[in-house]
Amino acid sequence: MHRNCPMYLWMLGFALLFMPPAFAHEQHAHVHGVAKLNIAVEGKNLTLSLESPMESLLGFEHPPRKPEEKVALANLKQQLLQPSQLFALPAKAVCKSIAVHLDSPLWSTPAAQQSLSHADLDAEFTYECTQPQSLTNLTVQIFERFPRLQRIDVQIITISGQHMMQLTPKKNQVKW
Ligand SMILES: [Zn+2]
Repeated sequence: MHRNCPMYLWMLGFALLFMPPAFAHEQHAHVHGVAKLNIAVEGKNLTLSLESPMESLLGFEHPPRKPEEKVALANLKQQLLQPSQLFALPAKAVCKSIAVHLDSPLWSTPAAQQSLSHADLDAEFTYECTQPQSLTNLTVQIFERFPRLQRIDVQIITISGQHMMQLTPKKNQVKW
């Protein structure tokens, strides 16, 4: 049987295996008021990755022109650098914030080169927990800080699997 299988079929099989999925080519689009949060628990490490339209955090997402817009952008960075204001983790898990990475074209791209349409925030909050067995839930306090946000689509990845849920200002607890 093996001998009868033409070589090109084997090649085709390989080509399909390495072909990127169709959705990878889709245009990235964001919806104002909707953010995404990925929660990954691996051993002692907890990583929270937040992707949000800047509009939902600032009320604008064009390059800052007015002085008050520049102040708002700087204040936002200060706020995001304090993850304890954004997420409440179970005290028993004894988690310590070890890194915060913030990225947005509004900070990283010179104003003249920024597009005037949409801009995202990409933030990553990393923690180390000495009692990770107690890390089974968290409370998202982002809605209180940023009232323009209406929904957060959450994906949770732990050793026991992957699941998704939606948070709203009235439902801000994640359990796994
Ligand atoms: Zn936008």
